[in-house]
Amino acid sequence: MMGKTQDSMPSSPRLSAFQTIQERPAPATRPTAPLKELWAQDVFDLVKMKAALPKDVFKSVQKTIKDGGKLDGTVANVVAQAMKEWATSRGALYYAHVFYPLTNSTAEKHDGFISVQGDGSTITEFTGKVLVQGEPDGSSFPNGGIRSTFEARGYTAWDITSPAFLMETPNGVTFCIPTVFISWTGEALDKKTPLLRSNAAMNRQAQRLLKLLGCQEVAPVNSSCGAEQEYFLVDSSFVALRSDLLLTGRTLFGHPSAKGQQFDDHYFGAIPERVQVFMQDVERQMYTLGIPAKTRHNEVAPGQFEIAPFFEAANVATDHQQLTMTLLKNTARKHGLTCLLHEKPFEGINGSGKHVNWSVGNATQGNLLDPGSTPHENMQFLLFCGAVIRGVHSYGPLLRAVVATAGNDHRLGANEAPPAIISVYLGSQLEDVFKQILVGEVTGSAAAGVMQLGVDTLPEFLKDPGDRNRTSPFAFTGNRFEFRAVGSNQSVAGPLVAMNTILADSLQFVGNELEAKLNAGDSLETAAYAVLKGIMQNHGAVVFGGDGYSKEWHRMAVEERGLENLHNTAEALGVLKRPAIRELFASVGVLSPVELESRYEVYAEQYVLAIEVEAKLALQMARTQIYPAVMGYLGQLSSSLHHQESLALPCDRGLVSTIASLNQQLLQTCTKLDGAIANPPHGDVQGHMNHCANTLLPLMESLREAVDSLEALVDDAIWPLPTYQEMLFIK
Ligand code: ADP
Ligand code: MG
Repeated sequence: MMGKTQDSMPSSPRLSAFQTIQERPAPATRPTAPLKELWAQDVFDLVKMKAALPKDVFKSVQKTIKDGGKLDGTVANVVAQAMKEWATSRGALYYAHVFYPLTNSTAEKHDGFISVQGDGSTITEFTGKVLVQGEPDGSSFPNGGIRSTFEARGYTAWDITSPAFLMETPNGVTFCIPTVFISWTGEALDKKTPLLRSNAAMNRQAQRLLKLLGCQEVAPVNSSCGAEQEYFLVDSSFVALRSDLLLTGRTLFGHPSAKGQQFDDHYFGAIPERVQVFMQDVERQMYTLGIPAKTRHNEVAPGQFEIAPFFEAANVATDHQQLTMTLLKNTARKHGLTCLLHEKPFEGINGSGKHVNWSVGNATQGNLLDPGSTPHENMQFLLFCGAVIRGVHSYGPLLRAVVATAGNDHRLGANEAPPAIISVYLGSQLEDVFKQILVGEVTGSAAAGVMQLGVDTLPEFLKDPGDRNRTSPFAFTGNRFEFRAVGSNQSVAGPLVAMNTILADSLQFVGNELEAKLNAGDSLETAAYAVLKGIMQNHGAVVFGGDGYSKEWHRMAVEERGLENLHNTAEALGVLKRPAIRELFASVGVLSPVELESRYEVYAEQYVLAIEVEAKLALQMARTQIYPAVMGYLGQLSSSLHHQESLALPCDRGLVSTIASLNQQLLQTCTKLDGAIANPPHGDVQGHMNHCANTLLPLMESLREAVDSLEALVDDAIWPLPTYQEMLFIK
């Protein structure tokens, strides 16, 4: 903790932040209520629709949700009317079309239900047309050149598969309608449209394969998602004094705390009461919004926590994940806390990820990535799992590209998160089964008593296939895959789109191969094993069960297995421009070449903007906060030394000269950084990204070295920024 301020010293904002925290009144609490009462109380879900709609209208809505297709105009009118009744009875005066632009954030267009009549009186009005179609400005959101400012028209349209809901502020509620966002020319300007398309594409190919496998009745196949969200909580009084946290979400400077995470005493430790009160507030709101919050715990780093819901259909889970991030941020504020979703808010301790658990399944065959217990289901499992292996191997760089952001670059490959090399972890038992398939002899005695594998019978696996591997970016975890390289601040839509798309492509491949072999007279079993063997021969190199952090893997992956190691966003985003990727998205019908190109442009711009803002801010903080504080301290030190000398006392100039030279180094680095910021390459997106990665970031790093060294040497009482110790340990 910092020293007492003396009259001669400037009053310390850090000290008053500390006082604010000590004196902060407890946040308002609400009485608890049973889940049954809370659950989906603010959602216009199927239960409420059923109660509010005529039977035939409800049936038509239900059918559209289940089978897809367009909502009939008259049906839309009736639904809109029922929605309005419900929302206005709950006090809503406004509705909002909620959509998901390419920025990872959530956007809303608010409109009143009010309609003014000829005589000046007002009524509330909400038609089917307004429900299914809104019109925000399409050019103001990043669109990668699809829309220029003079071509502004963009449309939002209700996504009937995601229910509308009420969002509450202390001053009332707003009726929110989840929508897709498309341009006047029909291109997807958002993250939801491709997600819906990718799901439909995956469904088509999964249906076909299941039918080839002899399934008579096949319900629509949907992808599922359960996203584990990691985050940090820091008291807002400290954040207010750190413009880096305020503007960029991460600390650009900060000497490590003497105590970090080395004791491993935070992970799954008792949750601090203040934090638990916050969590309960969030969870309660999630329940009223129909979001199934399921687990909460402390994470590895001090001040770091995690929340995960029960999994849902990928599209709904994605909307709910966006809402969860919003709730975490807004609720933290009410509790005097700031929720940091950045991937690396603090150097030297773990960053935050978002593990995206993903599977595919339907109502008739169940979870298609569940190893199951009957031979017939195992056949399905092996082919679906094999399709995933092929997909990850063929399109690993795409999976790398969809998790490429400026924030996530600090995390991937930093011995706390998976490496940037995309491989698949199957667990020892499954890995063994696929190896047997590769050598063409499925004898299956790997785990005696559990797996009986014969040529005629298909294998039976343990539900929990052995150990976990925390170092793998893409791990099979019993009945699903867990994509662990996703950043905490990212929308899960991009990763889900990529996974669904590569699976659709691979299922099509598997379907084609299987069909050809069946037509040639092979039995289903022989044909299936042959297809799987081919997959393992061509794509088995992506399966890796060892330590993903090790140097040996980094060498072996690249040199022996031909996997790519795309170190940062500047390297990874280029993947979106590769012909194979363009072909993939176009053939599966998920993104047109124009839509894909626009995503490259937008994500590249986001990367450049993020780093340029950080660079400018680092410069400003160093020059206007750190340098003056250090100069003040140098003045004090020198005059003390001067006095000591005049009294002929022993004195040591070592410290003062170290500080002086570090401060000099700080100024010189500032000058270089200033020059680099002012001279980016123009008109060359890739060059601009490289400039950020290879010039700005290293300069910021050396500036940080000087600043952090100074923090360890100068008087704590005059240091202008809250320290790591304060931010991580004071709650
Ligand atoms: P862990 O930290 O052990 O990986 P968690 O319980 O924190 O596990 O999170 C696992 C997540 O995986 C949860 O959101 C869970 O609902 C989700 N999940 C479980 N089964 C599936 C599935 N079939 N499809 C998608 N997600 C799933
Ligand atoms: Mg977890």
